Amino acid sequence: MSKSNASESAANSTFPEIASALRAAQRIVIVSHVRPDGDAFGSQLALALSLRQLGKDVAVWNEDGLLDKYSFIPGGELLHVPTADAAPFDLGVALDTAGQNRLGLAGELARAPKWINIDHHPTNPRYGDLVFIDPTAPATGQILFELISSEDLPMDAKIAENLFVAISTDTGSFQYPNTTARTFEIGAELVKCGVDVGRVSQLLYESYPLRRAELLRELLGTMRIEANGNVAAFSLSLAVVERLRVKAEDNEGLIDHLRAIEGVVVAVFFEELIEGKVRVSMRSKSETADVSDICQRFGGGGHKLAAGARIRGSLAEVEERVLKAISDVVNCNS
Ligand code: 5GP
Ligand code: MN
Repeated sequence: MSKSNASESAANSTFPEIASALRAAQRIVIVSHVRPDGDAFGSQLALALSLRQLGKDVAVWNEDGLLDKYSFIPGGELLHVPTADAAPFDLGVALDTAGQNRLGLAGELARAPKWINIDHHPTNPRYGDLVFIDPTAPATGQILFELISSEDLPMDAKIAENLFVAISTDTGSFQYPNTTARTFEIGAELVKCGVDVGRVSQLLYESYPLRRAELLRELLGTMRIEANGNVAAFSLSLAVVERLRVKAEDNEGLIDHLRAIEGVVVAVFFEELIEGKVRVSMRSKSETADVSDICQRFGGGGHKLAAGARIRGSLAEVEERVLKAISDVVNCNS
């Protein structure tokens, strides 16, 4: 993607406008964010499989390729790392990506004259030409379900499974407060389309490598509790990543162990990166402790209850700055 059409207007494009742009294009590239999660992959592949049934040539790009833990999702073989020599596409679609920079190489290498941006992050700056941002949707997959069903785009069991993966992972398996009655209605529709909930949930939540449990043991060894028990943190150094041969995907969800502690309002996970930066992941249990606001101050973003940022500095420096900012917010509210 080469340009940003960020506009001040918060008016969304309509589903008919988005569907007609999809129907008019032949060569379409679908991209999503670096450090992808279930909503990124599930949304990308659901839309790709639907558009392929319309006879479109669809490229599905993610800088990180398909992670092992998602290797079971239908259509996974369509997902590729971006290539520099691809001919320009007619249309680009960015899904679940709060900012253009979070598209990484996929955003840099995909060339298209027109871009659709569909997302549920409230901090999305509305880049692209046709923009649909719904911060009330718990997952981009839920927006896609509404688009596919209202615009009569193809749906089948494989597409449904991808949408289920997207929605299940971004709602913490239908548990987070962003889960609405509509989310369950859509869940029911997806099951009717052929999703095997037990099988998919086991593959998503009860099939992790031993390495991940070893990582959790290591992280809990660094756990500290701050701000009178309101804040819990743990950290991952590059030395531990090397020793345990940790993969980026092993981290997903481990922060929930901190948030689950009684009395903890904000959980934070610090991860040292090779490029002299630290990835910070935050979770909040209270709307009054808005972690997206805290992360935005450090150049990141996300949702009120789940946000992140990449911050330049050593692990120790970033920990100190961020914990101070969180403690100020939590103390202010208590
Ligand atoms: P996670 O902690 O799972 O990586 O991310 C939680 C939420 O924060 C996600 O919705 C994600 O999109 C957002 N987020 C994480 N890291 C960043 C970042 O560096 N920049 C922005 N803008 N959002 C982020
Ligand atoms: Mn999402």
